[in-house]
Amino acid sequence: MRSVVVGGGIAGCAIAAALRGTPLSRESVILEGGQPGARPDAGILLSPAGLRALGSIAPEFDWRGAGRVVDTVSLRSRAGRVFFERPFEACVAISQRDFTAMLREAARTAGFLGGWTMGGLELEPDGNIRAVRLADGGSLRGDAFFACDGARSRARETMFPQCALGPAVVEEIVTVVDAPEIASELSSSLRRYHDENGGLAIEIVATSSLRVAFTLQFDPSRWRLGSDAPAALCAFLGETVADWAPEVLSLIARIDFGRCQRHQAREISPPAALARGNLVLVGDAAHGALPFTGRGTNDALIDAALLGNLLATARSSEDVRESFARYSELREPQRRRTLQEDVALRSAFLEPIGPGGPRLPVVA
Ligand SMILES: Cc1cc2nc3c(=O)[nH]c(=O)nc-3n(C[C@H](O)[C@H](O)[C@H](O)COP(=O)(O)OP(=O)(O)OC[C@H]3O[C@@H](n4cnc5c(N)ncnc54)[C@H](O)[C@@H]3O)c2cc1C
Repeated sequence: MRSVVVGGGIAGCAIAAALRGTPLSRESVILEGGQPGARPDAGILLSPAGLRALGSIAPEFDWRGAGRVVDTVSLRSRAGRVFFERPFEACVAISQRDFTAMLREAARTAGFLGGWTMGGLELEPDGNIRAVRLADGGSLRGDAFFACDGARSRARETMFPQCALGPAVVEEIVTVVDAPEIASELSSSLRRYHDENGGLAIEIVATSSLRVAFTLQFDPSRWRLGSDAPAALCAFLGETVADWAPEVLSLIARIDFGRCQRHQAREISPPAALARGNLVLVGDAAHGALPFTGRGTNDALIDAALLGNLLATARSSEDVRESFARYSELREPQRRRTLQEDVALRSAFLEPIGPGGPRLPVVA
């Protein structure tokens, strides 16, 4: 059977890797609209659940060794005063770019069509998908379709038009900075610095002995960022966090603003199901990823591992549809819970910090 994976990000590569050895991997192809390396790098945290999923998707890789173990969280004020520090179950901080490259290597038996964009879906009279239409007018036929095309998924829009994208209530500026001394000082700790009035925080974590992932989260209704141009990002940070802790300012001084990414995560009203016929939604296409629970990548990996297991014995189109329906049944309630938790954490983030200190991000 032929499988078509739309989107070659983390979810797309993870699903192609998870399908190895199943009847669906005999002819599988990933369609990726973007160019490799086009996106600036960011840091991601692989949770214990994400690491377990990776053990099932591609056990031949040393996923823990590819990043840096993080096992302590330190929540601080903007001036650096510690609200509290505590250990948590070890996660791995890793560069998104390195991680995607490893997953792509794990998925190398699938064909990879880079620079090809899905223009739409061709439907059979019974509602199943016959083929993916390419932007150049051609088409790719398949038996099973995996929509891994991110939060703004075209496939989801076509199959579940009732799912609307909400506004970006919190925005982020993210990058990875060369800063060996700060990486050494951070060691295995994730630090978050908070403006006491709420709505503004900086998170830093080492992804290796040389590099530190930096994330600024802000409420765009209070701090307005017009353009994404490097000079505008530099001026914005300079004005917004001018009097923050010295170690934060020292890291900001090393940022290459040409390598920053502005991220406007939007909430998606949950689809009624995560599958319809022979099409399944995976990763951000299924749920979007608000930044507070740190679950976007980890959920995409759990999705892929589950689908790999469910499809291990699929021999027919009917088996594929049943496996997709079962996946939807198992994952959809979790999706709703994650969205609720994310929204609650986002509300807390926007409020002034209370006497108990800021709320912990869930991944911690
Ligand atoms: C800056 C940043 C920091 C993050 N930090 C964390 C973190 O710490 N922890 C965590 O768990 N998650 C984090 N996330 C979220 C995480 O990156 C995503 O949830 C995860 O990568 C899953 O993404 P995905 O593959 O589903 O979608 P995406 O990464 O959006 O990939 C979708 C892919 O589909 C391609 N595509 C889209 N449309 C088409 C089309 N029509 N045709 C062909 N190809 C198409 C795109 O080019 C893209 O490569 C972060 C995200 C960002 C942006």
